[in-house]
Amino acid sequence: MNPMLHVNEISSGYGKITILRDINFQVKENEVVAIIGSNGAGKTTLLKTISNLIPATTGKILFQGKDIVKFPPHMITQLGIAHIPEGGKLFANMTVYENLLMGTYNHRKNFQKSVLEEIYQIFPVLKKREKQLAKTLSGGEKQMLSIGRGLASQPKFIMLDEPSQGIAPKLVDDIYNKLSILKEKGLTILLIEQNINYALHLAERAYVLENGKIVMDGSSEELLNSEHIKKHYLGL
Ligand code: ATP
Repeated sequence: MNPMLHVNEISSGYGKITILRDINFQVKENEVVAIIGSNGAGKTTLLKTISNLIPATTGKILFQGKDIVKFPPHMITQLGIAHIPEGGKLFANMTVYENLLMGTYNHRKNFQKSVLEEIYQIFPVLKKREKQLAKTLSGGEKQMLSIGRGLASQPKFIMLDEPSQGIAPKLVDDIYNKLSILKEKGLTILLIEQNINYALHLAERAYVLENGKIVMDGSSEELLNSEHIKKHYLGL
């Protein structure tokens, strides 16, 4: 079976500075795949390149067999890819409900009730805070809202940029419990994380990004047992 996402020889960067070099990886339908790496490895740059917020300088990005490398970001969303950025990037002065509405394609006033109900079922706290301004939410609630907003577009594939970033450790558990619900529902997920323990316990497989290159890949179990990961990432 063809992968849902096939990143093929992608390079990108900022102006004349190349950050990512010849990146290759695949995500199959219903899989949860993590890209792990430390600060500045290029993880955020990679997601931005897939969303074409940063143009790729070489390579192809096949989504369900179609090369999307030159598609504008809104078309990429319309194909069913939801990009949940680092820190959520919410509309601070809008309510929780209005933020969810912004996640639909065309900001429909009455987006399908069933979609909203499903989001509220996964994140009951969002229903409780429906009328509250996004800026008044706690860090963990903001992260849940940004994931909920991504789900409002009814994606086939979600890309999450460091969902544990800036969140108290206890709340990181909550966020990851929610992500495992999405996994059980069969959503295909690409997860970018610095927090390797969390990432490798959720994902089935992972790729290790160092200085803009993929240096290792394997099942989460293989990586958790690898000497390189233990030494450089887990401090064991
Ligand atoms: P973190 O976990 O700290 O977010 P990351 O792995 O996501 O790190 P990126 O944010 O992709 O890393 O950054 C990769 C490299 O690109 C870094 O060296 C960073 O300084 C550089 N970089 C990021 N944004 C820009 C920019 N707008 N202009 C120039 N260089 C940038």
